[in-house]
Amino acid sequence: MFQDRRILIATNHGKESVISPLLEQELGLKSELVENLLTDSLGTFSGEIERFDDPLTTLRNKCLLGLKVADCDLVIASEGSFGAHPSLFFVQANEELVMLLDTKNNLEISAKFISTETNFDAKSISTFIELKDFADKSLFPSHGLILRPSKSDYTEIYKGISDWQQLESVFNKLKKTHSSIYVETDMRAMFNPTRMKNTEQATLKLIEKIKSCCPNCQTPGFGISEAIPGLPCEWCGKPTASVLKYRLNCKKCSYLEEKLYPNNKTVESPEFCDNCNP
Ligand SMILES: [Zn+2]
Ligand SMILES: [Zn+2]
Repeated sequence: MFQDRRILIATNHGKESVISPLLEQELGLKSELVENLLTDSLGTFSGEIERFDDPLTTLRNKCLLGLKVADCDLVIASEGSFGAHPSLFFVQANEELVMLLDTKNNLEISAKFISTETNFDAKSISTFIELKDFADKSLFPSHGLILRPSKSDYTEIYKGISDWQQLESVFNKLKKTHSSIYVETDMRAMFNPTRMKNTEQATLKLIEKIKSCCPNCQTPGFGISEAIPGLPCEWCGKPTASVLKYRLNCKKCSYLEEKLYPNNKTVESPEFCDNCNP
């Protein structure tokens, strides 16, 4: 279905460097970068333009924007978000979503990779020593930083800072007119190798899903659509929040399959049971 077809990579920030080789090697596609795609109009990380849609919708819009710019029927885009991990408390996480849209075959396939490998952080600082502490913790200078006057002030924003000299000069410049300064990690992939790796992992997951075909109609993209909780507790037998089964479905023919005990466990340890360990 994909061999030798042209695919657009609708992405900014250099992510094509990890996405493109995988598409070519694994699926035999001929990738093409959409130049000057103004995806920032869909929202930016540093918040100058707020994102209104959920990540999947933003991603779909990014794909459609790519198709509008270039004449093609196949596109891939990726989208990252950062914040508290969905189930681990007080742990920052990076969620990377990748989507393939094929308008010729009416297919939309997406994959998600969640990683706690991220330097995502921000802080108000007033001295260079504080800034240096933050920078060291944030893997600077291999990972970029952003400086601006305060959390809510975007009037003066310095992005993609990636060497000490530049960091010091921007700090000194802002310090002249502001008593404290807001520093944050630059999460754009070309300034953030850790994020770039997560995008690569998400792409690998997407390819795996593309290669998995529906047992009924052979359409690519047959995969987990839902995780159903309710794995019984080993002691009391009551359902816990852990996964009991996965539901796999085909978007094309609606064929449904369930995979019971996907983590090779038939019972959950009582420490995860609300009844035994409230
Ligand atoms: Zn099917
Ligand atoms: Zn129990």
